Amino acid sequence: MSMSGEHIQTSTPAVRMTPSILRHAPYFVLAAIAVAAAATMSFDGYILNILMQAATFSIAVFGLSVVLGLCGQINLAQAAFFGFGAYAVAIGTSDYQISFWLCLVAGALLALLAGAVLGMTTLKLGGHYLAMVTISFQQIVTLVMINAIWLTHGPDGVGKIGRPALFQSQQSFLAFCVGALALIGYLVWHMPDTRLGRAMRAVRDNELAAGVAGIDVYRTKVAAFAISALLGGIGGGLFAGGFAYVSPDQFSFAESIIFLTMALLGGVASPIGVVIGTGLLILIPEWLRFLKSLPGLYLAIYGLFVILIVRFMPDGIWGFVQEVLTRWRAKMPAAPASAALQLVPARTGGDMVLEVTGLSKHFGGLKAVDNVDISVRRGGVHALIGPNGSGKTTTLNMLSGLYKVTSGRILLDGTDVTNMPAHQRTAAGLGRTFQNIRLFRSMTALENVVIGAERPGNTLIGDGSAEALTQRALSALAFVGLGPRANELVSSFSYGHQRLIEIARALAGNPVLLLLDEPAAGLNSSEKVELHDLLKRIAAQGLTILIIDHDMTLVREAAQHITVLNFGRRIADGESLAVLQHPDVITAYLGTE
Ligand code: ADP
Ligand code: MG
Repeated sequence: MSMSGEHIQTSTPAVRMTPSILRHAPYFVLAAIAVAAAATMSFDGYILNILMQAATFSIAVFGLSVVLGLCGQINLAQAAFFGFGAYAVAIGTSDYQISFWLCLVAGALLALLAGAVLGMTTLKLGGHYLAMVTISFQQIVTLVMINAIWLTHGPDGVGKIGRPALFQSQQSFLAFCVGALALIGYLVWHMPDTRLGRAMRAVRDNELAAGVAGIDVYRTKVAAFAISALLGGIGGGLFAGGFAYVSPDQFSFAESIIFLTMALLGGVASPIGVVIGTGLLILIPEWLRFLKSLPGLYLAIYGLFVILIVRFMPDGIWGFVQEVLTRWRAKMPAAPASAALQLVPARTGGDMVLEVTGLSKHFGGLKAVDNVDISVRRGGVHALIGPNGSGKTTTLNMLSGLYKVTSGRILLDGTDVTNMPAHQRTAAGLGRTFQNIRLFRSMTALENVVIGAERPGNTLIGDGSAEALTQRALSALAFVGLGPRANELVSSFSYGHQRLIEIARALAGNPVLLLLDEPAAGLNSSEKVELHDLLKRIAAQGLTILIIDHDMTLVREAAQHITVLNFGRRIADGESLAVLQHPDVITAYLGTE
């Protein structure tokens, strides 16, 4: 994607400062050529219709690329949003003689609004509900189109739809649609590299980790859904102008499925894939036209074609091409970071970074954590230990906001965070890793760590520009020793290295307190030595660490202070050596007799 920007680095600031519009000049030149070709070549009516359909459908399918490809949320009502735009233009220009542009904007806004409301009411629920609700919504819209005859003319549809004065002929209007396609395609293409786009990808890959990285998961999903509906509305408005006639069957559930198939076939993650998929799914039936007299055979061949592509290229045609490209890019070592990682933990409270009092978590009758106090002093390493099932991870989940507390109070650097959602605690300065690694699987190491660097409240990323974020992330990766492999997909790293990427992701955000859940689990002995060294280097910069681990050697050497849990209760707390010699602790670990 943005290969040029990321690899030309540091040495020539002039290159970095080139406005992105100039860097992408070739794209706009190509787009201008396409528009000129659409305006001037001579097509027969049949080709013109196919091109018009491809251009307007593609815009609607871009919407699916955003909501499904980027954010991982299903939308089975894209034809309904397409219909909002189409009927706004149809009814407005034909029945009320309102300007095409006004109708287009109104239809797009209507779709946006409908999408936002639908998203806000359903996205708190899980995936199946979303599918069901979007199907129901789609059916309701179809029913209204057919039955509200006073408004929509019912099954007869609306004809004599107007076009803007500037683009009266069908061909000049096609040229306009191609221009719109190019512009919207450009925006969608670059969306993954924006803050919102990154948030969407993080939500798609791992909602929990996204929340803990500081992303408002719900808002991100609603935004994706609303943008998807908006693009559906724009595509529909242009479609109505292009064909001058619309009827309810063009916006049915079956059409929503066709939109979805177009996205999946070409590759839902990229607008290039969308255009390929949309074009193919419009063209295949045309190629197979000679079989129309044999409908059974026609459907079989058509179905086989689609199944073969999806079977052998699960990420679509373009997804397949892109994976090859990513593998090839990963072979190029990333540019070295321009500066060593700095950790400058903010300070608003007193000597204690974390003060937990009376913390409890009950699962039904099970008291997983029971009235626990923990005070973590600023700077240094504090360990939370205890046998398996003693409540350590549950404690961490309450600290980071993944579990609601049953009772108790949590002060982070003087701020009461007890009832904050996860992403707000992260903004308040919390960083964490997970016992079972939670990385964003479809992204490179660098992309994972950039999301950490983007933590709201991180003061070390200057203006938050892509360049500053990349530099911060590269420094963090270099700090954990993985700098040169920044461009590799996280799935190609060993287990131990994935743990280090998780730590780098948390460090890049410059947290006030770092929570590590069993970072040594699954590491071999040399990796453990490296981890110990890493902890020392982190602590040396003044960042406070609260670490859970089983490895007593690591805990004894790294931690100055230890809190011990057993059966959810705190059984010891204090300076390391004293705690480790405490008879109750020895009993808890070795068992009585
Ligand atoms: P540790 O991390 O110290 O090994 P945990 O905090 O994971 O222990 O678990 C403490 C206890 O709480 C265990 O008995 C575990 O089975 C229980 N527990 C943890 N999470 C849940 C949950 N979501 N629902 C019910 N019980 C849970
Ligand atoms: Mg645990």
